[in-house]
Amino acid sequence: MASMGTAVSLPNPVLHPHDLNVDLHMHSRASDGVMAPAELVARGVEHGASLLALTDHDTLDGLPEFLEAGADLGLPVLSGVEISVSWGGETLHLVGLDFDPDHPAMGDTLRAMQASRHERARRIDAELMAHGLPSVLDEAMSYAGNPNLIGRAHFARALVARGVCSYTQEVFDRFLTPGKPGYVPQEWARLSDAMGWIQAAGGVPVLAHPARYRLSATAHWALLQEFRALGGHAIEVATGSHSREETRRYQRIAVEQGFAASRGSDFHSVQESRFDVGMAPPLPDATLPVWASRPEWFSRA
Ligand code: AMP
Ligand code: MN
Ligand code: MN
Ligand code: MN
Repeated sequence: MASMGTAVSLPNPVLHPHDLNVDLHMHSRASDGVMAPAELVARGVEHGASLLALTDHDTLDGLPEFLEAGADLGLPVLSGVEISVSWGGETLHLVGLDFDPDHPAMGDTLRAMQASRHERARRIDAELMAHGLPSVLDEAMSYAGNPNLIGRAHFARALVARGVCSYTQEVFDRFLTPGKPGYVPQEWARLSDAMGWIQAAGGVPVLAHPARYRLSATAHWALLQEFRALGGHAIEVATGSHSREETRRYQRIAVEQGFAASRGSDFHSVQESRFDVGMAPPLPDATLPVWASRPEWFSRA
C-alpha cells in the first residue's frame, strides 16, 4: 500500500498538436487590420496562444515589430504574409509562413504590388464617384495605417464614416465586390510566382480560406492539384473566413486529398471580425496540423 506523501511519478502530460492554440492568420494596421503588431502579440498572450503568425496583405512592414514583441513577451511567433493572387479569373489569397523577411524575392515583388494597389485605389474612387458617391480616397488613405498599403477595407471604413453604410460588412454587400458599384478588377500575382517567392525565402505556402473562392467544382479541384504540383502541402481549414459547414467540408477535403491543415482567426478588428486572436475554432479531428511536423516553430520566441 502506498503511504501518504509518496511522490507518484506521472508521465509528462503530452499535448496533442490539435490542442495547441495556434493562430497563423491575422492582420495588423500595416495592412487592413487596425491594431499595432505588438498589440496582436499581447492579445495572443492574453488568449493563451502558443504560436502566432502575422499575415498582412502584400506587405512585410509589420513583421519587425511583431517578431520583436514575440521575443519581448516570450510568445513564439512566425513571419507571415497573405499574398493576393489572380487565378482562373478569381482573386486567391496565398499565405506564406516562416520565411526570411529580408529575402529580396519577397520584398521587391511586394513593393510592386503595393504600387498597383495605389493605382487601383484611384480607380475604385472614380468608380464610386461614377455611381454618385462622394470621393473618399483621402479618407481611405487616412484609414490606412501604412501609407504603402491601401485596400478595400480602408474604403469600407471611409464609407461607414461618411454615413453611406452603417458597418463595413454592409459596404462589401453593397459596394466594392464583383458586380457592385466601386468594384474594379485587378491583376494580382501569378500563383506560380507567389509560391516561388515564398519558397525562395524559405517559407511554407498555405492556401488561405479555400471556401471563399467563386470557382466551379472542376476549377476548384484543378486549383488544389496545381497548388500541390507547385509544392503546396497545407490549406486553411479552421479560419474566421469559413462557416462551420465550410470548415467541415475542408476537413474532409484535407483528409481525403492529403493536405495538412492550418488554423487562423483572420482577425482584423474587434468590430469587424468573427474571431479574435487565438479564438478561431480548433482544427477538426483527423486533420494533420501544419505545425505538427514543425516543433521548431514553438521555440521562435
Ligand atoms: P483587398 O485585398 O484590398 O482587395 O481587400 C481584401 C480584404 O477586404 C479582405 O481581406 C477583407 O479584409 C475585406 N473583404 C473583402 N471582401 C469582403 C467581404 N465580402 N466582407 C467583408 N470583408 C471583405
Ligand atoms: Mn483583409
Ligand atoms: Mn484573405
Ligand atoms: Mn486575411
